[in-house]
Amino acid sequence: MSFSSLGLSDAIVRAVTEQGYTAPTPIQSQAIPTVLNGGDLLAGAQTGTGKTAGFTLPILHRLSTDTIGAAQKNKTSPRVIRALVLTPTRELAAQVEESVRLYGTYTNLNSAVIFGGVGINPQIKLLKHGVDILVATPGRLLDHAGQGTVDLSKVEILILDEADRMLDMGFIHDIRKVLALLPAKRQNLLFSATFSEEIKTLADRLLNNPQMIEVARRNSTVEVIAQKIHPVDRDKKHPLLSHLIKSNNWTQVLVFTRTKHGANKLVEQLGKDSIGAMAIHGNKSQSARTKALAEFKDGSLQVLVATDIAARGIDIDQLPHVVNYDLPNIPEDYVHRIGRTGRAGATGEAVSLVCVDEHQMLKDIEKLIKQTLPREVIEGFEPDMNAKPQPIQLRSGAPGHTGRGGRPGGGNGGGRGNGGGGGGNGGGGNKPRTPGGAPAAAKRSGPRPASAVRRDR
Ligand code: AMP
Repeated sequence: MSFSSLGLSDAIVRAVTEQGYTAPTPIQSQAIPTVLNGGDLLAGAQTGTGKTAGFTLPILHRLSTDTIGAAQKNKTSPRVIRALVLTPTRELAAQVEESVRLYGTYTNLNSAVIFGGVGINPQIKLLKHGVDILVATPGRLLDHAGQGTVDLSKVEILILDEADRMLDMGFIHDIRKVLALLPAKRQNLLFSATFSEEIKTLADRLLNNPQMIEVARRNSTVEVIAQKIHPVDRDKKHPLLSHLIKSNNWTQVLVFTRTKHGANKLVEQLGKDSIGAMAIHGNKSQSARTKALAEFKDGSLQVLVATDIAARGIDIDQLPHVVNYDLPNIPEDYVHRIGRTGRAGATGEAVSLVCVDEHQMLKDIEKLIKQTLPREVIEGFEPDMNAKPQPIQLRSGAPGHTGRGGRPGGGNGGGRGNGGGGGGNGGGGNKPRTPGGAPAAAKRSGPRPASAVRRDR
C-alpha cells in the first residue's frame, strides 16, 4: 500500500516521500481513510506507531483540499484556527507541530504551537497573525482563551493526542473547558495508548459514531526488545550504570529516574565518570530541555536522564538503549519507557537496575507484561542477599514511604503536580489541576502499592 493510494494529495505525498517513508504504518493505513471521510475516530496507538502522521496527513489534506471550511479558501479572509490538536506535554506539542509543518510544506496551511513555561507574548503575536492548525497543551490554551487571544469558534477538527496521559495528568477539567469553546459540529479524533473507564467516558461524550482502530500495543510487542534485570544494591546503581555504559560502549542511552532530584544527581555522578549526560524534567527550563533533547537526538549527548512525564512523547528512532535506573511507580510506565527502544522493528535493549526496595514494583511490572524478566547479576556488583528493603522515596526531599494509599507531603500529588509535571506544565496558570486528588493512573486497576502514586516528575 502507498500513501497516494490512501487518497492523499500529491502535495502531501511529496512531503512524506521526502521523509523517506514509502509505506504507511498500520495505524496510518487505518486512520487516514477514516479521517479523510470526515468521520470521528477512536484510535488505540502509542508513540512510535506513526500515529502523528496518522492524523496529521489527513487533516492537512482535508483542510487544504476539502470542501469543509470552504469560506476559508478565500485567500483574502484572515486565517482562523480550523484544526486544534491538544497534547499532554510541551515536548509532544512541539513534535506534533513540527510534523504538521513538515508534512504541510507543500500546502498553503500554516501552524503554531503554544504551551506553558515560556513567554505568552510571542504566542499572542503568532495567534494574531492567523493560524490554520494549532497545537497546544490545555492549560496555556485556556490562558489564551481567558485573555481573549485565541478564537476557537471556527475549529472544524479536534484531535486529542495521548488522551490517557492527559487524564492521568489531571487535564480533564481543562479539556471540558476547551470543548465548551468549540463549535458543536466538528470532527473529533481521540488517540490513546490505553482505554480506562475515564477514556471510555470521554470518548462517549466526545465522539459521534466513531470508527475504532487499535494497533498492537507495546504490551504485546515487548518481545522485540531484549529486556534484562540487573539485581544490584541501591548504592551501587550509579557505578553499575557507568560500568555498563563504558564496558559496552553504549553511545545513546536514555535513562529513567523516579525523581527530578535523582535525575540531577545522576547527571553529576556520570559527569564525574567522564560520561556526558543531561537531564530533562519539569524543573528544567524549556530551552534547557529542548537543548538536551536536540543534542541527544543528534548523537552529541551520550546519556539523557529523564523522568517519566518529561520523556513522554520523545520521538527518537531506533534508540538502542533504555535503562531503568529506578523502576517506575506505575507499572504501565515501564511499558512506555521501554517503548522508546526497538522502534519500527529495530532491536533494542532495555535494562533495569533493581535493588531490594523495588521487588514489589518488579512483581507488578511482570504481572502487567505477563513475563518473568531474566535476571543477570553483573560480576563485581553482586547484591547483598541480606539487605533489608527501605522505603522508596517518591518525591525529592520528602521522607520515604511504604504504606498503602497515603500520599506523603500532601497536596502536590496528582498527575499534573505543582509545576513538577515535566512536560505536563502545559499551562501558564498556577492552579493545581487535581487538587488533592489521587491521579487517575492510581485508580486504574485495583489495589496497587502506594508507590503507584505518581509524583515528582
Ligand atoms: P509517532 O508514533 O507519531 O511518534 O511516530 C514514530 C516515528 O515513526 C517518527 O519518527 C516518525 O517520523 C516515524 N514514521 C511515521 N510514519 C512512518 C512511516 N510511514 N514509515 C516509517 N516511519 C514512519
